[in-house]
Amino acid sequence: MSEKLSFVNPTANSPWGTYLSQVDRVVPYLGPLARWVETLKRPKRALIVDVPIEMDDGTIAHFEGYRVQHNMSRGPGKGGVRFHPDVTLEEVMALSAWMTIKTAAVNLPYGGAKGGIRVDPKKLSLQELEKVTRRYTSEIGIIIGPHTDIPAPDVNTNAQIMAWMMDTYSMNVGGTATGVVTGKPLHLGGSLGRVKATGRGVFVTGREAARRLGMDLRGARIAVQGFGNVGSVAAELFAEAGAKIVAVQDHTGTIVNSNGLDLAKLVPISRTDGVVGFKAGGDIVPNEDFWGVACDILIPAALEGQITAERAQRTTAKLVLEGANGPTVPVADDILAERGVLVVPDVICNAGGVTVSYFEWVQDFSSFFWDEDEINVRLDRIMMNALNQIWDTADKHKISLRTATYAVACERILMARQERGLYP
Ligand code: GLU
Repeated sequence: MSEKLSFVNPTANSPWGTYLSQVDRVVPYLGPLARWVETLKRPKRALIVDVPIEMDDGTIAHFEGYRVQHNMSRGPGKGGVRFHPDVTLEEVMALSAWMTIKTAAVNLPYGGAKGGIRVDPKKLSLQELEKVTRRYTSEIGIIIGPHTDIPAPDVNTNAQIMAWMMDTYSMNVGGTATGVVTGKPLHLGGSLGRVKATGRGVFVTGREAARRLGMDLRGARIAVQGFGNVGSVAAELFAEAGAKIVAVQDHTGTIVNSNGLDLAKLVPISRTDGVVGFKAGGDIVPNEDFWGVACDILIPAALEGQITAERAQRTTAKLVLEGANGPTVPVADDILAERGVLVVPDVICNAGGVTVSYFEWVQDFSSFFWDEDEINVRLDRIMMNALNQIWDTADKHKISLRTATYAVACERILMARQERGLYP
């Protein structure tokens, strides 16, 4: 009976199309809860806002902003805000839905939400960036809040931007509401371990997957796409465990070195000049060559839709760790499975970030802050428990880790949905 949504037009490989096909695959494992599955195929609420600012040269510029609350059955909405010139409503919808699955997969008491602004922050001055952030926050202020929807960093957003968001929201409501966003600076209610949490989670799930595959991390060759907060931290942790980072790609290009790139030099250079700034440490190759590099582990840690059918055919990796959200299109997922490549899906692999966001939110409310060891130990435990449960589900039904993650997560979400009942 339900009508298709009129405001998006997904294709098979677009973010929302990818998400819908992932949900369709889990339906056979939901039993009677399948009755409620349509609730996952549409966002609860989607807000589009105009973000006008006065630029440094005196002109007025308008940007399009979004905040989508996909599902709140299990708790307040949770999810990052992305600043990128290609952001669309459809993309933010998919990213919000993946947050719903992710928070349920690791059993955090949250729903899923996401936000974005269609803007290239690299083209803005610091003052313009602050204006865009504050006006956007004020516009979405009618639906966010410490108990309703809690934004966080994502692509091209950071602790400074979270500080501006927290301040703007607080000014509008009166008082200081630290719990309205996570990923804040440390002295503003931020949490130790948050910056590295997503990369650390990729490492924790990757280490366990490698162990189960019988793959020794010492000497394992790793290719990393995206060298921001997720990719660079994961690369460092794998290198510490003895792996070799043989290829890295970011927006500036691709660098390879089959003996392993020297991360102590690459990481600082990449922050200012991108990875191609480290010419001295490897060979710069055409971007498409990245996908054919001889490696054992592939870590897509950039944007959606990167692992296409053709790239899935080409990769020599035995293990894919999805640091990014939605990096693998459905047809590529099938090709990887046929080729015996194990994929640890985004909705568990990169859940370390939102897990430590949850720790930050809990610490803000209790005004009691934990030390970094405690955070990392708890993060490790939550990720390992979740992964083990997902692995058992995958073994039981002989399904992929992705479908198993959706099975575990959707059962929690739809059980909550059923127990709450329909209103009115
Ligand atoms: N943006 C991150 C993600 O995609 C973190 C979200 C959060 O901490 O709420 O999972």
